[in-house]
Amino acid sequence: MAVVGAGPIGLELASAFKLGGVKYLHFDAGQIGHTVSWMPRQMRFFSSPDRISICGVPLQTVEQEKASREEYLAYLRSIVEQFDLTVHTHEKIMSIQKSGSKFLLTSEKATGQHQYVADYVVLATGDLNRARELNLPGEDLPHVSHYFDEPHRYFRKRLLIVGGRNSAVEAAIRCQRAGADVAVSYRGDEFDTQSVKYWLAPEIEMLIKTERVTYYPLTIPTVITPQHVSLRQVQTGQCTQVPADFVLLLVGYEMDTTLMEQVGVALAGENQAPQLDLQTMQTNVPGFYVGGTAAAGTQIRFQLFIENCHPHVGKIFESITGRQCPFDATDKTHSGRYALPES
Ligand SMILES: Cc1cc2nc3c(=O)[nH]c(=O)nc-3n(C[C@H](O)[C@H](O)[C@H](O)COP(=O)(O)OP(=O)(O)OC[C@H]3O[C@@H](n4cnc5c(N)ncnc54)[C@H](O)[C@@H]3O)c2cc1C
Repeated sequence: MAVVGAGPIGLELASAFKLGGVKYLHFDAGQIGHTVSWMPRQMRFFSSPDRISICGVPLQTVEQEKASREEYLAYLRSIVEQFDLTVHTHEKIMSIQKSGSKFLLTSEKATGQHQYVADYVVLATGDLNRARELNLPGEDLPHVSHYFDEPHRYFRKRLLIVGGRNSAVEAAIRCQRAGADVAVSYRGDEFDTQSVKYWLAPEIEMLIKTERVTYYPLTIPTVITPQHVSLRQVQTGQCTQVPADFVLLLVGYEMDTTLMEQVGVALAGENQAPQLDLQTMQTNVPGFYVGGTAAAGTQIRFQLFIENCHPHVGKIFESITGRQCPFDATDKTHSGRYALPES
């Protein structure tokens, strides 16, 4: 058995196998919790701690608030220690081939390529594998990034942020507070309030209204130079040149479907979501499972996140072992805010 991906759900699944006495191999291309590790420093999850806790282990936070990125990474490390999980970190699975009833996995790490054979494979590789690119001239310039790390870099600098969902809004507020001269370009008229944390929406509105953040609604960037960004108004076609020392293109992330395609998993719809039996999370390829947010494909509207992926763990464990998951892996989603996928 091979589990690929050691984010929260991959770790929750590995803990179930470990507790259940099932032999498995576990890989991550980066360190455990790699996706959480590239989130902005001191970012707070929108979920309350109990909803993103895994394996029945309570997640306590220092200030009884929602967990920060740092608290959650520490929690994930504790999970690995608590259950003494062996994870082959910094070892990326480059290819998976089906060979009869078995799978042949080829990995790459610092010491070179390695091969493994498994009866079952579970992909828990997440849906945020690479930044969505706009394919603009200048997108690869050194002052341009698709990731917001921390605000200090932008102190007393002109920062243009492109995007209108939570990442862009949160970066705009934090950088403005940290003394940056912030402008935001968004292709829509108003921010996507469905995705923006509810406590941030009034603040960004106030910052724009009081002209402490400059807002360019209904615009798309067309060219980035070392000095400025050209923004085109989508209705009039008129172009504005906005001076910028730094540019953050926070327009979302995409899932890498390579491994699924290699073994012949059927992908469907705009999201390129793997076709699954939702009772077991097994794909159309026997023995090949997908759990966690990877089960949703590239999410245009977020449907799967940590909160409601816990049941995947129980379903996969039960399908592969024929036994009940050693801990309670149930849906911890609160009602109302997000639509759940039909099962
Ligand atoms: C800013 C931000 C805030 C969020 N806040 C919340 C929240 O409050 N509540 C919530 O429920 N969700 C939230 N999410 C969503 C959720 O946190 C993440 O999507 C979550 O990390 C998904 O968990 P996962 O285990 O499915 O996948 P991931 O955490 O993405 O883990 C996938 C792992 O697979 C590894 N991997 C990928 N490809 C390979 C390969 N080929 N070989 C080996 N390893 C590979 C990656 O390195 C990674 O470690 C947030 C997301 C973002 C970006």
